Amino acid sequence: MTDNKPRIIWLNVIIFVSTFLVAAIGVPYRAFTHGFTGLELFAALICFIFCGISITAGYHRLWSHKTYSGHWSVRLLFAIGGAFALQNSILHWASDHRVHHKHVDNNDKDPYSAKKGFWYSHIGWMCREYTASSYSDYSNARDLQKDKIVMWQHNNYILLAALTNFGIPILFGLATGDVINSLLLLGFLRLVLSHHTTFFINSLAHIWGKQTYTDKNTARDNGVLAFFTFGEGYHNFHHIFENDYRNGIRWWHFDPTKWLIKSFAFLGLATKLRVTPEDKIRKAKLAMILKRSKSRVAKKALPNADQIIENLQHDYEQLLLKMNEFYEAKKQVITLKKEQLLADVEHSELMHQYQELKQHLKMMQKHWIRQAQAAYAG
Ligand SMILES: [Zn+2]
Ligand SMILES: [Zn+2]
Repeated sequence: MTDNKPRIIWLNVIIFVSTFLVAAIGVPYRAFTHGFTGLELFAALICFIFCGISITAGYHRLWSHKTYSGHWSVRLLFAIGGAFALQNSILHWASDHRVHHKHVDNNDKDPYSAKKGFWYSHIGWMCREYTASSYSDYSNARDLQKDKIVMWQHNNYILLAALTNFGIPILFGLATGDVINSLLLLGFLRLVLSHHTTFFINSLAHIWGKQTYTDKNTARDNGVLAFFTFGEGYHNFHHIFENDYRNGIRWWHFDPTKWLIKSFAFLGLATKLRVTPEDKIRKAKLAMILKRSKSRVAKKALPNADQIIENLQHDYEQLLLKMNEFYEAKKQVITLKKEQLLADVEHSELMHQYQELKQHLKMMQKHWIRQAQAAYAG
């Protein structure tokens, strides 16, 4: 029998296995036999955050999706943090990621297709030469090749990765007088945690959670995952609205990457932040509720199922009409506010209509969602 599996990439396997073993065995052993200081743990946490944020705010939202433009100092910082995170160069990562979005769940094209299972999408895809034929094809990232920082990092990636991964822990260890502790925490443990939390976005965020906005792909919204991935857990939203600089769109959503980008914008270090129009988001969500309710009603095989579905569809269309009316009024209010004094608009007839529409739409939507949920509950 011949083995048709692509060749094993030993360098990756050795890095993944050895760092994991040291973090899982060496770190606890050292903790019991020697102990760590609060300062060392704190420094490891800072390094973990630096790596994680460089991937989410830099590799992902800045370079892969261009959801905003970053000042050179921000890009340089993320380029260094990305090398520290040891996840290949920006150019390579972003190119892979753009393929992932374009061909999501396509086992032949998506480099980390979730349909190939948890293990494959988590880490397996990096352990064998699955993408050898297109490894150096960066034709989908020509824009990034014009970014001097991206190319500088790409051409010096190994040197940067070695300097950060050995240099930072060794320097910190020399400063505190315990290089072994520093290498274990800031080196090994930080790297393993940083690797696997990022990998969870390709694996778990395509398996565990809610499909709030679309079920056309496996991506899921998951608040728990968002907590460990600097906000990237709202992956269902991200896959349908990939150009949005936010992943968690509500104020209570845990999305520190979004907060950081917004803070950079306040400081003038980030510009052109892209957001999805609110009506598009609401419509996607309602369309999913309708789809789910329809299929549940049909599954229950109720005697009046056809009538229930027809009513739901009818009221849904009415709701969309009202929504269009509301957003049209909102647009007018915003334009007028720009042109006139605020006080004039506040007391205008338009503002009155707008407020009324807002209330009406809110009630209508609430009522319809209840109706859609009750349709299959009873
Ligand atoms: Zn993405
Ligand atoms: Zn994904």
